This record gives sequence, structure tokens and C-alpha cells, in this order.
Amino acid sequence: MAISAQLDPMVPRPFRIQRVKSETNDTFTLEVTPVEERDGFAFLPGQFNMLYVFGVGEVPISISSEPRNSPALWHTTRRVGAVTKAMGKLKRGDVIGIRGPFGGNWPVEEMAGRDCVIVAGGIGLAPLRPALVHLVGQREKYGKIVLLYGTRTPEDILFRSELERWRGKFDLEIQVTVDRGTPGWRGSVGVVTTLIGRAPFDPTNTVAITCGPEVMMRFAVSELQRRGVGSDRIYLSMERNMKCAVGFCGHCQYGPAFICKDGPVFRYDRIEPIFIKAEI
Ligand SMILES: Cc1cc2nc3c(=O)[nH]c(=O)nc-3n(C[C@H](O)[C@H](O)[C@H](O)COP(=O)(O)OP(=O)(O)OC[C@H]3O[C@@H](n4cnc5c(N)ncnc54)[C@H](O)[C@@H]3O)c2cc1C
Repeated sequence: MAISAQLDPMVPRPFRIQRVKSETNDTFTLEVTPVEERDGFAFLPGQFNMLYVFGVGEVPISISSEPRNSPALWHTTRRVGAVTKAMGKLKRGDVIGIRGPFGGNWPVEEMAGRDCVIVAGGIGLAPLRPALVHLVGQREKYGKIVLLYGTRTPEDILFRSELERWRGKFDLEIQVTVDRGTPGWRGSVGVVTTLIGRAPFDPTNTVAITCGPEVMMRFAVSELQRRGVGSDRIYLSMERNMKCAVGFCGHCQYGPAFICKDGPVFRYDRIEPIFIKAEI
């Protein structure tokens, strides 16, 4: 398998869609493999690719599969606009262009020996999934593993069967809450950040990772801090519009940083001064 550094980061390589899985009403996962074997690449949990729907446009999407010895990549995407809606119409056998992988990764090595808290909101579970799969796969290396996941409704829960399977292992804590219950929902109702105060972890020995809407991450950070998790042990993944993904164009500038090359995963203490300003 080639490694990304040997590939031109500005040239999309053709990948074929092997499977389209509908996850929820507005979210789907594309499983893709390189048309040419040499275009396969290794990646780390938390990294993203630029996906090019030919003739429509290119968007950043995180890799939601786990790094492993397979060239297949998953991208779990919510239909919001022109490109993601066109992507949602693609079928098995179609070809898309991929550049990547880009950006930094979740600190799965630093989490070893500590309690791991994962706070996800909506589609934010997709970029976190490779880290979770890594933690579960190497369970003995980690302390408690706590996933706190919030969605709008029960129908919006991603990777439901996988969450149920993990829950059945009894060695990780998975708590799900929804903004609005539906008839038949007997689970928790309320925003995900309300789960942090009661979650079972030792704040003095915890690394927390979070991804979701920015407002959710703001409240997640302050709840984690209130529990005593240090700012240098909280990581979050930021999103901004981006074009080049390699730090040239400046579209994703975030204070002195570029989200594409300095992020998207940031340690909180390193962005705190700009994160607390609402409109950067
Ligand atoms: C590093 C990174 C990783 C990402 N990973 C994923 C992922 O794994 N899965 C996924 O579904 N999306 C992900 N996104 C967001 C995704 O790139 C955007 O949803 C996409 O660019 C929208 O393009 P579009 O042409 O479909 O919509 P546009 O026409 O660009 O936008 C349509 C509408 O959606 C709104 N919108 C655009 N981007 C976002 C956004 N990021 N969040 C909320 N609303 C938005 C716009 O304001 C507009 O109202 C990621 C973004 C970044 C920067």
C-alpha cells in the first residue's frame, strides 16, 4: 500500500463505491476502494479526505472506518447541500475522486492507561468512530471507556447495531440521549452535555474527545472542566469551509491556525483563546 506522502495531495484519485449504506433519513455511508491499488493509503483515526463528486464539487469528509489492513474506506455523510446531496445519489460501482488523508488525529496513544470520555453530537459520531473502534479493539490498554452520544431524535442514532453490540460487552459505558423523544422511546431526553456531570470516570485521569456542533462542544468543554478534566486533556474536532486542505488557500483559517493542516483535531488549551470568541 502506498503512503500518502508519496501522492500529490492536490490530485484526486479515483475510488470506486463498493457499498452504499443508509444510516438514517439524511445520512449514508459510502464504502470505497481505490480503482488503482497503488492509490490506497494508510490513515489515522480523526483524519479526513476531500471527496470530489465529478462535475459538482469537493467537500471534506472524515474517514469513519477504522485504520486496518484493508484499502476500503468509509465516509459517513449527512446530506446538507449541493455536493453532499449529489453524493447521496451515487450507487455501487460509481467512481468519486479522493484526496487525502489530511489533518491530525485523535490522541489514542495518549489515552492509554487513562479513562476515555467520548462526547458526540449527531453526525459528530462519524469522525469519532475510528477512535472508538481502536479503543474497543485494544480494550486492555485503556481505563474506563465512556461514550456519551446525543442526537435530535431516536431515528437519528448512527451505527445503532454497533452501539448495541458494544453495550452488550459490558466493559464500556454507552449513554444515548435525544433532544426529542418519539412514541416508544424510553431512553434519556435532553442535551448530551447534561450526561457529563453524572458519567462514571475519574476526571484526574481522563482524556476526553468531542465532536459535534460547535455550541455542543462549548458546553461539553465547560462541563468537562467543571468535573475537573484539564484543558490539556480535552480534544475537539473543528469544522470550517475548506478548499485546498493543505494550508494554502486560507479558507479554513481559524485565528493563527488552519483547520485543515493544524486541525481538525485540536487540544483545547491550544485554541482556548479563540474558541471562547463566538464568531471566529
Ligand atoms: C474536517 C471536516 C470534516 C468533516 N467531516 C464530515 C463528516 O464526516 N460527515 C459529514 O456529513 N460532514 C462532514 N463535514 C462537513 C461537510 O464538509 C459539509 O457538510 C459539506 O462541505 C457541505 O457541502 P455541501 O455542498 O453539501 O453543502 P453547502 O451547499 O456547502 O451547504 C449547505 C448548507 O449546509 C450548511 N453547512 C455547510 N457545511 C456545514 C457544516 N460543516 N455543518 C453544518 N452545516 C453546514 C451551509 O451553511 C448551508 O446552509 C466535515 C467538515 C470538515 C471541515
